Amino acid sequence: MKAEVLSIGSELTTGQNLDTNSQWLSRRLAEVGIPVGFHTTVADDLADNIQCFRIACGRADLVVATGGLGPTLDDLTREALAAVAGVGLVEDAASLEHIRALFAARGRVMPDRNRVQALFPAGAEPLPNPVGTAPGIWMNVGRAAVVAMPGVPSEMFRMFGEQVLPRLAAAGLGGGVFIQRKINTFGWGESQVEQKLADLTRRDHVPEVGITASDAVISLRILARAATLDEALAQVAPVEQTIRGRLGDLVFGAEDEELQDVVVRLLKEKGRSLAAAESITGGLVAHRVCLVPGASDVFCGGVVAYTDEAKARELGVPRELLDRFGAVSEPVARAMAEGVRAKFGVDLAISTTGFAGPGGGTAADPVGTAYVARADATGTEVTRFGWLGTRAEVMSRTAKLALNTARLRLLAAR
Ligand code: ATP
Ligand code: MG
Repeated sequence: MKAEVLSIGSELTTGQNLDTNSQWLSRRLAEVGIPVGFHTTVADDLADNIQCFRIACGRADLVVATGGLGPTLDDLTREALAAVAGVGLVEDAASLEHIRALFAARGRVMPDRNRVQALFPAGAEPLPNPVGTAPGIWMNVGRAAVVAMPGVPSEMFRMFGEQVLPRLAAAGLGGGVFIQRKINTFGWGESQVEQKLADLTRRDHVPEVGITASDAVISLRILARAATLDEALAQVAPVEQTIRGRLGDLVFGAEDEELQDVVVRLLKEKGRSLAAAESITGGLVAHRVCLVPGASDVFCGGVVAYTDEAKARELGVPRELLDRFGAVSEPVARAMAEGVRAKFGVDLAISTTGFAGPGGGTAADPVGTAYVARADATGTEVTRFGWLGTRAEVMSRTAKLALNTARLRLLAAR
């Protein structure tokens, strides 16, 4: 059993718009146990569409297409499908009535051109579209089941849920469940994490465990396939436990959880307040914390102090430290955190300083070097790290490093 997702539209092949339908559809199909073997994207060209449908119907059991069902001349899906199936186009009275009614409801007369949206390859089943003029198409071509839906994501989502999923089940396609669990870690590199979990990430392990790195966050994905949801969950649970056990506090969250979400949650749980003094991150730490709903309960504010002058004046960093060690140094990171902690009167303060590049840096602290500090009632600790990456990447990762030091401090706090 294998499916192919076919995205139709010149706005996609020209790069004007990103094909997000394929991603969405592949996830939904996986959830019902249908693996996707191919993604194809094709421009609004009849011969190319026919070729793509022909190839897809020859190699997949299920072909899920989106786009090209509009009323304009460049909408060719129904024609292409009729050609591939070797049948003509016939009008569906109910679909025509629905399209007319949609226009009438807005006090307009249906343009003649929209009539083509009521045409279907002979033998195909129309799929109603309650939120748009383009009905979908369900049909068989050879041994493949073919479904064509509108390209507009909101129309497609609804049609897939209401019309396609029940038909897939009725056709006996798929079956079983496929679930994914994502566990997020920060602090180690991909290979270090992999070494700790080598027995789990080997190819034939059930359930499958994969590692992905995204902007210094290393995530483990547990992929389980089973007959029932309970069985799939039972596969995932012990593996998740093993991963959490081995990685300890490197694990900061699951699914879409970000470091700032965890920091805000922990601040609330422990009844602590936070402020930030930022140089290299230019406000990114504050920005990310403020993305979390309810941040105002725990985040007091911050200072972006970019020049030496600003660090001295706004944060009280001693001139002598700046002159002697430079702004990118352990003592300055420390003084920044302590300065902002005093200024805002918060429990916990974090600071960032570093060389984002591409220019700058010193022999001892090359481009990519960052110092982050955290200060609270128990003292101040500074962490140094050397990143590889573009200016934006170094900034983003340093902000994460600072948030992570806050997280670790809060975890240990009573
Ligand atoms: P329909 O089948 O509903 O008539 P269409 O192809 O005729 O769709 P377009 O005008 O080409 O309509 O596309 C409608 C909108 O849907 C556009 O904004 C387009 O970018 C978006 N869209 C089409 N296909 C995709 C896709 N694969 N992923 C994301 N967006 C898409
Ligand atoms: Mg289109």
